[in-house]
Amino acid sequence: MTALVLDDASRTRIAVEQVYTIRSTVATNALAGQLGLELTPGGQIVVTPEQHTNVSGVFAAGDATSLHDHQLSAAMHEGNQAACGANWLLYDADQRGATE
Ligand SMILES: Cc1cc2nc3c(=O)[nH]c(=O)nc-3n(C[C@H](O)[C@H](O)[C@H](O)COP(=O)(O)OP(=O)(O)OC[C@H]3O[C@@H](n4cnc5c(N)ncnc54)[C@H](O)[C@@H]3O)c2cc1C
Repeated sequence: MTALVLDDASRTRIAVEQVYTIRSTVATNALAGQLGLELTPGGQIVVTPEQHTNVSGVFAAGDATSLHDHQLSAAMHEGNQAACGANWLLYDADQRGATE
């Protein structure tokens, strides 16, 4: 791409080397809907800090759970939190110790 040509009366031409675009976020949440997960008004899955959803035993992480922190590092952290949360859920009372 070398230029943008505007759709105006004089067909203004703007030389460019690169063009960046931005668009709104569209949540991919069909599966979440099928599972009965609570969603935000924007369609993201509502989770606790441990990535637990409103459905027991169902965890979610990454872009599907938030609007504002779409980054690989955030997705990895949340995925790890979700895995630890799921593991904790499998512990019996003895394994959980005196905390619960
Ligand atoms: C153009 C672009 C540039 C980016 N640049 C950066 C960057 O420089 N640095 C950075 O940190 N982040 C960047 N990001 C953001 C980063 O890619 C995301 O935050 C990250 O990939 C989120 O990981 P995720 O696992 O939550 O989702 P995804 O990586 O989107 O993975 C979700 C996966 O689930 C699959 N899936 C969805 N629904 C279903 C279903 N029903 N059944 C089975 N599979 C399903 C999808 O096909 C997809 O493979 C960028 C994103 C884009 C779009």
